[in-house]
Parts: sequence; structure tokens; C-alpha cells
Amino acid sequence: MTGGFLSIGECMVEMAPLPGAGDYRMGYAGDTLNTAWYLRRLLPQGLAVSYFTAVGTDAVSDRMVAFLGQAGIETGHVQRRTDRTVGLYLIQLTEGERSFSYWRGQSAARTLAADAAVLDLALAGMATAYFSGITLAILPKPDRARLLDRLAAFRSQGGRVVFDPNLRPRLWDDTATMTQAVMQAAAVSDTVLPSHEDEAAWFGDTDPAATAARYAQAGASEVIVKNGAGTMLALCDGARTEVQPVQVAQVIDTTAAGDSFNAGYLAARQNGAGVADAMAFAAKLAAQVIQTRGALMTPTATLPQ
Ligand code: ADP
Repeated sequence: MTGGFLSIGECMVEMAPLPGAGDYRMGYAGDTLNTAWYLRRLLPQGLAVSYFTAVGTDAVSDRMVAFLGQAGIETGHVQRRTDRTVGLYLIQLTEGERSFSYWRGQSAARTLAADAAVLDLALAGMATAYFSGITLAILPKPDRARLLDRLAAFRSQGGRVVFDPNLRPRLWDDTATMTQAVMQAAAVSDTVLPSHEDEAAWFGDTDPAATAARYAQAGASEVIVKNGAGTMLALCDGARTEVQPVQVAQVIDTTAAGDSFNAGYLAARQNGAGVADAMAFAAKLAAQVIQTRGALMTPTATLPQ
């Protein structure tokens, strides 16, 4: 094992409106990519951060892979599909409110877990595998099972599995399928990083402690419950830790709050920080991200030890 991180999921083309008539800026985004981006910026260069996905063979796919490479993210395990291309979403601004339109139903990333041997090869050199509820949501049912099966095998060989439930009911056929798949994912994970507000909505958790207890019960030894502007809660091997978020006077754009938090937490833990210090660092990073427009920025804070 080289100690690297493998982030598994979908990166999409993002078309964001520019001031003026009908102009858009092309960028790249996706929850697991956002976390990989921040991990890369926080971790020492000697630790690999690799992205596992599938893209097309067209020019836009080439540009996406080049973007990942320029960000320092390894792309050696990005699969190429001749019959598909990358997903895309467009942000629409109407009187200051953002709305999103997606073209991702047939994206190449939906085939990312089609081959168990390819998954095993990518996981083989890694210490940590990271994935989310969105990763699961985009996969056909047999591929979802295949991904969880290979992650379980990776874990049984000493790898660490980290999961953010990132509940997005609109990506699922129905909420029962979503909640069932998310709990199956938690059962193969060491660390779960849920956001309480989403969990309360779809699992009926009355407070962050209920969210933490449910994932601990599923088998996760480390559960960190994010909570917007509220108190965060960790449940690690039965020990409870509460941490306050950073007070933010003006939230500009909450995109990637949770994704950057996850990277901050994992990087700080990797650097030797305890649970409370790692959560405080993650909260500081997320606070910086939500005071900046867009998902991706260069963090200024240095990791705690
Ligand atoms: P997600 O973006 O996944 O829905 P949350 O909304 O729970 O996740 O936010 C993740 C983390 O970002 C929080 O735990 C907190 O540290 C930080 N955060 C989010 N919103 C705020 C806020 N309004 N003020 C301060 N910190 C925030």
C-alpha cells in the first residue's frame, strides 16, 4: 500500500453564468471530485490522490482529464468509453437565485463500476477509498452491489473505506431504495460523514446523536455528523465529541461545504490530528469555502497535527 486516497464518483462539466447576456464559463465539479481537489491541496505531495471514474473519448472528456491532472489528481484509473461522454449541468440565475439543469442520465460515469477487476486494480495501491451516496445513485443496481462488494474486499485486506451519504432523492428511483443502499454502504465503511439536515429529512433522525448512532450501529467505527451552522457531533469507537462550527457573518455560496469539510477532516486525521482538532480544522476550511463563490478554491489554513 502506498497510503494514497482513491476518490470514486462522477465529475461533471459545469456551465456557470457570467454577467452579461447568455455567456457561460465552463468548469468541472462533482461531490467526490471536490473532496479529491481539497485533499490534494491539503496533503503532502508524497501521498497520491487519485480519481476513479469513467469518461468518454471525446475532446470534452480529454479536457476534464487534463483539468484533473493539472490539479495534481492522478488520472491513471480513469476509464474511457467510446460510446458515452461526461455529464453536464448548467446553472441558471433568476433574480439572484441559482437553479440547476442536468444532462447526466447517460453519462460515462454511470459505468464506472462495470468491471470488478478494474476496481480491484485501482484499489490495490491505496490506503483509503472515498465514495458517496451520489456515486451509488448514478450506478445501475448490479454495479452498485459490485462496488460495495469490492470495497468490502478492500477493507478486509486492510484498506479504509470512507463514505458520505450525500442524500439526493432526485437521483434515486424512490427514497426506500436510497435509504437501503446508503445503509448497505455504511455497512462496508469505517468512516461515515453524514450531514444531519439531510439525514433528518430522509431517515427521521431527531438529532445528530440519532444520526451518529444509526451509522455506528451499521458498523462504522468513526461517524462525524456535519450540521450546517449547528453543533457537529462525532461518535468514534463509542466516544462522543462535540465541536462548534466557525461563525460566518455572510454565507456567499454553500456549494462544497460538506465536500471540503470531508477533505479537511480526512487530511487532518492523516496528519495525526485527533478527532476534535480534525473537525475544527474541517469546519474552518468549510467556513472559508462558503464565503467564496464556487466549489473549488485554494485553502490557506495549515493542517493540525
Ligand atoms: P452539506 O454541505 O453536505 O449539506 P452541511 O450543510 O452540514 O453539509 O455543512 C458542512 C459543514 O460546513 C458544517 O458542518 C459546518 O462546519 C460548515 N457550515 C455549513 N454551513 C455553515 C454556516 N452557515 N456557518 C458556519 N459553518 C457552516
